[in-house]
Amino acid sequence: MQNSLNNDVWVYIDLRTQRLFNACLNVIAAAQQLAGPFGGQVVALILTDGEDGPKTNAGGEPSGVDVAAAMETCGAKGADKICIITHAALADTRADTQAEALNRVVHQKSPRVVLFALSDLGREIAAFCARQANAGLIADCVGFEVDKDQIMADCPSWGGEIMARLSFADSTQTGFVTVSAHAFSPLDTKKNDAVIEKIELHDLIPSNRLKRISSATEALEHLKLENAKTVVVGGAGVRTAEGFAGVRRLAAAMGAEVGATRPPVLRHWIDEERLIGQTGKSVRPKLLVSIGTSGAVQYTAGIVESETIVAINRDPDAPIFQTADIGIVADAKDLVPLVESRIKQVVMRDLADQLCVDKTDAAENGFGEKICKLRESHNWSIEELADQTGQTPEAIDKFERNQSTPSVSFLLRLSKALGVDPGTFLSEDEKADILDQRAKAFIKRTKNYHYQTLTPGGENQHLRGFMITIEPRQAHKPVAYKHEGEEFVFVMEGSLELTLGNKVKQLKTGESIWYNSETSHKLKNRGNEVTRCLVMLFTP
Ligand SMILES: Cc1cc2nc3c(=O)[nH]c(=O)nc-3n(C[C@H](O)[C@H](O)[C@H](O)COP(=O)(O)OP(=O)(O)OC[C@H]3O[C@@H](n4cnc5c(N)ncnc54)[C@H](O)[C@@H]3O)c2cc1C
Repeated sequence: MQNSLNNDVWVYIDLRTQRLFNACLNVIAAAQQLAGPFGGQVVALILTDGEDGPKTNAGGEPSGVDVAAAMETCGAKGADKICIITHAALADTRADTQAEALNRVVHQKSPRVVLFALSDLGREIAAFCARQANAGLIADCVGFEVDKDQIMADCPSWGGEIMARLSFADSTQTGFVTVSAHAFSPLDTKKNDAVIEKIELHDLIPSNRLKRISSATEALEHLKLENAKTVVVGGAGVRTAEGFAGVRRLAAAMGAEVGATRPPVLRHWIDEERLIGQTGKSVRPKLLVSIGTSGAVQYTAGIVESETIVAINRDPDAPIFQTADIGIVADAKDLVPLVESRIKQVVMRDLADQLCVDKTDAAENGFGEKICKLRESHNWSIEELADQTGQTPEAIDKFERNQSTPSVSFLLRLSKALGVDPGTFLSEDEKADILDQRAKAFIKRTKNYHYQTLTPGGENQHLRGFMITIEPRQAHKPVAYKHEGEEFVFVMEGSLELTLGNKVKQLKTGESIWYNSETSHKLKNRGNEVTRCLVMLFTP
């Protein structure tokens, strides 16, 4: 039997990450709305093993928020009192141990209600506590009111179709509530007079029914979503994993971060960390594109602070159009690839403009980042892009790091690989420049071998054939060739020593080889007979 309740409102503080801690600060603001009418205090509860400093992750790096900093911040954000509950078993943030510790203190102190920020852990601890205490639990609350000394909590129900107003049946027992942190904004009281109370627990034995197998710190990648300037969100309307891949490609082409509503997360098309909404993250980008989302309140709760929302839905009556600034009634399947292709064209043109203006400016203008985004838009690794464009991975890596500027002809091949019409951004002068470079490569090759052109008059064509004849024990100084394009060599007579980079290959009659001409290559005949090779040269 619990002692009679006081009017204090407690808030469970989650120190595991800064993001989770920030959500608790919003809940402190929610707690103030209740404590005021009750005439009670807002108490921030910090459960710790008593060790100073932030926790460390598996790699030994600091992770989470340290207790001293948390105490200060909670005070400044509206907590009247900070209660530090310590026990060695609280080193691990396990829902069962945390709930056990919390319930012991609740039993002693009898607060009116305990609030938890809505997270997996918050939900779990609240459920444990309510079950252990046989008390009431209100879930997913987005607003409060106190009516005739009763807590009235507003909670979306039926997928957000209706708002339910809930209260505790038994007001003689401490109640537990999970609160949607997005529904509240943190207070900025700037006060520094929170009372500190320390409670040391004894005999807290973690149950052996649970065992921690592994833990990992939230990847920094995921933090990008909340701070992104552009976000593209995919919903159930994209229908398949491939449809969702289209959302990713569009996001990459726009240099945006990808978000999702709940169905794509449940279908494992995307990581849970990308969920946006009441139980996920809140975003506030300059531009948010919402594709195939109905506009359920639990989702829109996470996007309302976006500057401009563009929604694509095939149903003109979809509720998302009430939230969106620009609504497009269209089938995502048709529209998304079109928008992606148009954006890529614009980006390619922009890249070409930068190249033409000044090569040093190009590096400063994020040229490399754009190439990287375009590559990512196809989910290609650097090696795959190298394969698609005939450029070496090392060279592409340098372009992406802005350590060197690609040639216009690379851009041409990039656009081809991306399925963007190269003619859209090349001026006639630039095209002539490329043709000239190709002709120069052709002439340079005439200096060292005796060869016959099999494609006369085709100097400016992409594909040309040669019959190369190398005399036996050829004594001329081998020249390492390195130029744009690809080569195919077929040994028709004799033998050929081909040095590709630092690898030497011996080819006999009837053997052939293909290689990227960007790799330095030397051809030599070490045999006693004449070597004749058919060489097909492709230059972009
Ligand atoms: C307590 C609670 C918390 C929740 N928290 C979250 C949360 O944090 N985040 C979240 O997202 N959800 C959350 N939900 C779920 C939420 O209520 C909705 O179910 C969910 O947001 C719906 O996702 P959706 O809009 O992608 O799918 P749907 O509601 O199924 O909508 C799909 C939309 O796509 C359109 N469409 C279909 N085909 C096409 C096409 N070919 N082209 C264009 N449009 C098409 C349809 O017209 C429809 O409007 C929560 C629910 C509860 C109860």
